[in-house]
Amino acid sequence: MLSVNHLNELQLMNAKKILVSGGSIAGLTLAYWLIRHGFEVTVMERSPELRLGGQNIDVKGPAWEIIKKMGLAEKIRAANTTEVGIRFVDTKDNILAAFPKDNAISMTQEIEILRGDMVNILYEEVKDRATFIFGEQIKSIVEQKDGVEVKFNSGADEKYALVIIAEGIGSGTRHLVFGNEIKYHYLGLYSAYLTMEKSHTDSRWARWCNAPGAIVFLLRPDNHGTTRTCIFFRSPERGYEKLPLAEQKALLLEKIKHVGWEAPRIAAAIQQTDDLYFERVSQIKAPHWHKGRVAMIGDAAYCATPIAGKGTDLAVTGAYILAGELARNKAYKDAFNAYERLMRPYATRVQKLPPGVPRLAYPDSKLGLNILNLFFSLAGSKFARSVVKLFSSGKKQPKEEIQLPDYKF
Ligand SMILES: Cc1cc2nc3c(=O)[nH]c(=O)nc-3n(C[C@H](O)[C@H](O)[C@H](O)COP(=O)(O)OP(=O)(O)OC[C@H]3O[C@@H](n4cnc5c(N)ncnc54)[C@H](O)[C@@H]3O)c2cc1C
Repeated sequence: MLSVNHLNELQLMNAKKILVSGGSIAGLTLAYWLIRHGFEVTVMERSPELRLGGQNIDVKGPAWEIIKKMGLAEKIRAANTTEVGIRFVDTKDNILAAFPKDNAISMTQEIEILRGDMVNILYEEVKDRATFIFGEQIKSIVEQKDGVEVKFNSGADEKYALVIIAEGIGSGTRHLVFGNEIKYHYLGLYSAYLTMEKSHTDSRWARWCNAPGAIVFLLRPDNHGTTRTCIFFRSPERGYEKLPLAEQKALLLEKIKHVGWEAPRIAAAIQQTDDLYFERVSQIKAPHWHKGRVAMIGDAAYCATPIAGKGTDLAVTGAYILAGELARNKAYKDAFNAYERLMRPYATRVQKLPPGVPRLAYPDSKLGLNILNLFFSLAGSKFARSVVKLFSSGKKQPKEEIQLPDYKF
């Protein structure tokens, strides 16, 4: 908690009222810690409601330590997806290799939770203690001596001491503040996430299927009786993520038209869904994470891609550190600098992907596909393990961890 002196200092700087733009893992975790440190928080989310789509995310390393500090460990454990491991199958659904949960390199981790469940748990913690604005976004930001004047798309405006961008990889506000400084490092892959009804072919095992055309389907069981589906496909960068939903759906349907396996079932689900998370798989490289009274956290600042398997970790850790430094430092500039100094080396290490990603796991030729499937069928082979490792992100990677400061005031 802030001391009285410290609070006075912050009030002098008008630094208590903070706008967090983006109501997902990073934004909600930040809201939690800011409130706990005594700040007044508004969370603004572009969608009319929380976005609850997506597959399993794993909560581990520093994120797990922070979740424990938040007293949420039991709730997260209780929402475990109950996935028992991953099976690699061919387009006839023959099992080529299987990596159970307790296998050191399995993609299925100890603490797995649906992204949407985690968002809900975080939201429950802050919904009555922060102001929430849904269906709104920032139109302009004008920095002033004692705060930031924010204009919203609806025409409303408001002054805040600080604005934190937690809008994910495709953040629009980021461009308003940081312009062309932000670089996307595109990995040559698009991903589309959706939820579909369970079928008799689903079990507690996740299934990975490499299909023709450099397409990968990843189907994962959840604890809600539905199946979380992801379609990856390799492609040159085409701006698909900016297309309207109907065009994204048409594109996906065309891509998976003749690829076999469970494509017809997945196509039917694509037609029905209105929560499709369609993204180019890219890393965000930003030379600065703050400018004036605005800072960025989570995927908006340092997206490492799902391939790195650390998106939740970076988002939760960044939020914890930024809130802690804002509470610890008298001047917001010092807080922003300290946040970046502590967090950047960690984010940079996490962004280092193994060589060959994603060509290795998403071959586009028939030969490449056959070779990959052959290697998978040699379960336990060095090659199969190395491919799985890409997505398991390792259960023990001590050198990637970060020393978490203890923010007690
Ligand atoms: C619907 C959805 C499904 C996902 N599924 C997966 C998955 O299956 N596997 C995986 O590894 N990762 C997934 N992700 C990404 C994952 O959540 C992040 O990599 C990670 O948790 C970091 O979270 P974040 O809060 O920084 O970003 P995100 O989780 O991407 O959240 C950003 C939030 O900001 C909101 N937003 C965007 N633009 C604006 C704006 N201009 N103004 C206000 N709000 C805005 C978005 O609606 C979203 O709620 C998904 C993200 C979303 C939004």
